[in-house]
Amino acid sequence: MQYGIDIGGTKMELGIFDNNQNLLSSQRIRTPTDDYSKFLQAVIFLVEQADQNTLGESTVGIGLPCVIDSNNFAVSSNIQCINGKNVHADIRDKLKRCVGFGNDSETFAVAESVYGAGKDHSKVLSVIIGTGVNSTLCVQGKLFTSRNKIAGEWGHVLLSALHQQRYGLPLLECGCGSLGCVEPYVSGKGLEWLYTHMGGDNISAQTLVTKMRHGDHLAVKTFNCYLDLLAHSLAQLVIYYDPDVIVVGGGISNISEIYMYLPDLMSDYLFKGVLLPKIVGTKFSNHSALLGAAIIGAEASELVTQLD
Ligand SMILES: [Zn+2]
Repeated sequence: MQYGIDIGGTKMELGIFDNNQNLLSSQRIRTPTDDYSKFLQAVIFLVEQADQNTLGESTVGIGLPCVIDSNNFAVSSNIQCINGKNVHADIRDKLKRCVGFGNDSETFAVAESVYGAGKDHSKVLSVIIGTGVNSTLCVQGKLFTSRNKIAGEWGHVLLSALHQQRYGLPLLECGCGSLGCVEPYVSGKGLEWLYTHMGGDNISAQTLVTKMRHGDHLAVKTFNCYLDLLAHSLAQLVIYYDPDVIVVGGGISNISEIYMYLPDLMSDYLFKGVLLPKIVGTKFSNHSALLGAAIIGAEASELVTQLD
């Protein structure tokens, strides 16, 4: 059996998987965000509960919403108490067993590329479009890693001047501190912002999509603009990585129209004759992060066994 833990800013969840990647059970508790020792205790509690339920000690993998810097310290997390901490070492020491770690984008990518929608493809780009935007490449089922662990952070590439002029867009400040990154335009909130920019009310992305499906002029115009910005951003990723398939996760992945229209729109930003990657939704929409964490945990444990 394998344990996968997905830690978010509000809840943390542990899933118990059998060796065929079937989710047997899961437990979810609140994430302590302002007290690091309580945060560690909560993770240990979940693992101990799982050990009691399974009458054993399984491998543990954890997905965290943060960047893990070159010294293994967590940075840029919305869970304030883990910033600047070596969460990996602290949990490993308390559990006294090998623990695999990844960020939430990596756990999603591993699950979908190895067992999910990208299975059977050698180069899978997993893209999350939700509150933020991010991507992770897997080659032959293995994570592509980089020196600063920033490869794939396409949300912080600048909006093109072409699109800024085409839609009269102001340069928005991004959460990273830069001006004009694409994330504030192509995230879920970005879609909502675009509607207000075009003169609409402050409504949710879901309401906007419903209006668009009913033919509301402003919602259709906003959605077309949004698709154009997204198509250009994804086409840039095709130029960088040339993947076989793009698996889309995050809230925006539930909008079926994106799979219909993005391929043609992306073609406009690529050379003639370029074979587009398939653009597909997730297979494990509800528990890809849990499964990916479990896979990373099992791999880490295997590596330690080999080194021993
Ligand atoms: Zn940015």
